[in-house]
Amino acid sequence: MITLKEALKLSSKELEDLKANLASEIAKHPELNAYIDVNNVGSGVPIAVKDNIQVKDWSITSGSKILQGYIAPYNATVIEKMLKAGLSPFGRTNMDEFAMGSTTESSCYGKTLNPHNADCVPGGSSGGSAAAVAAGLAIAALGSDTGGSIRQPASFCGIVGMKPTYGRVSRYGLGAYASSLDQIGPMTQNVEDAAILYDIISGHDEKDSTSADMNDKVSDKLNPARKLRIATLPKYIEHASQDVKDAYSKAIEALKNAGHTIVEKELLDAKYDISAYYITATAEATTNLARYDGIRYGRRAECKDLKELFINSRSEGFGEEVKRRILLGNFVLSSGYYDAYYVKAQKVRHIIKDEYAKVFEDVDLILSPVAPTTANRFGSLSNPIEMYLSDIYTISVNLAGLPALSLPICKSAKGMPVGLQLIAKAYDEQTLFDGALSLEKEINYKG
Ligand code: GLN
Repeated sequence: MITLKEALKLSSKELEDLKANLASEIAKHPELNAYIDVNNVGSGVPIAVKDNIQVKDWSITSGSKILQGYIAPYNATVIEKMLKAGLSPFGRTNMDEFAMGSTTESSCYGKTLNPHNADCVPGGSSGGSAAAVAAGLAIAALGSDTGGSIRQPASFCGIVGMKPTYGRVSRYGLGAYASSLDQIGPMTQNVEDAAILYDIISGHDEKDSTSADMNDKVSDKLNPARKLRIATLPKYIEHASQDVKDAYSKAIEALKNAGHTIVEKELLDAKYDISAYYITATAEATTNLARYDGIRYGRRAECKDLKELFINSRSEGFGEEVKRRILLGNFVLSSGYYDAYYVKAQKVRHIIKDEYAKVFEDVDLILSPVAPTTANRFGSLSNPIEMYLSDIYTISVNLAGLPALSLPICKSAKGMPVGLQLIAKAYDEQTLFDGALSLEKEINYKG
């Protein structure tokens, strides 16, 4: 598949052919279920868009029955920025309902398959975007990452996925899951394309009150020759499988060969991240999802009075995982438990942030696993807690608001891609991309 960098040089005639080609390839692979629909309207370079990012006049459902029938009344800021840069949204990609999940199985449109092995999940929640890029059905895609939803599916599908610093990319027009953690980011075939797409979608936006007042760009200054200090985490990686540990050793060797200095560090045990994240994320989600009442958006259930309207619309519209999180979020925010859970989670969040700050006093980047395993088989996570635990390596980055990039390192013994992530200081995307580009060159991963 042509890269984003190359596609930006195509004539409009060449772009038309490319899009027709893409549409016919997508139609040939319905079983993959990466796209919910293809909507080839604009004249720019086609970019696949996760179904929780608004494109004016398109359906948007966040993978949920409750939003079916809803039409986006305006463009998300990232879409406006893409259009200005000569890109155009091309189809909605499948996702876990309201971005809650790590497998894309909770979508109301059914599961998406991993292009490397149809018995395995593509990861989630941006599994449709990852599968589309990995299968050659998209040049690049947008995803959103609240606790790993860009980086983990990128790792499972063997592509590049980047979560920007919190505040770098406007959340205006993104379906909110947990507002203090959500960021939109690029999912691409390589690091340079990720930098290009990041540059296009990032920048200050007055429509998002948490948007950083910064507009610096990275892609025209990429410098993989910079020599960096990179932290490794020998104890932290103990929770990972042998495949991931092997990839980790391989990446360390590659970084050394590229001339970087490796420094061993430690972070807070990742088990604290899970509790802090799932309390914070569900508390925010429960508040954000309160707006889906059957009146203002999407689907309305049969009812005989107002109370039934709320109850039936929400009962029929939300799936099981979303309901579980609404319950959990209400529980941790309820008056008797607010201090014991929610307030405590915020304190832990601060400690996690401080731990990262300490490590970054001495290094430029941190090398970390993305997920403890390669893509799991469908149905192999027997309960929700097991799925939550599989997020141990991604969620602290969101809690601390940091930028991170997942890139493929090698294949496992069973032929599945293994990705690792580099994490940088807040707002230091330049160093993140420079280091990632250097590692990508040295590793020379062939999908
Ligand atoms: N798997 C995590 C969750 O379910 C992260 C999801 C995400 O980043 N949107 O909350």
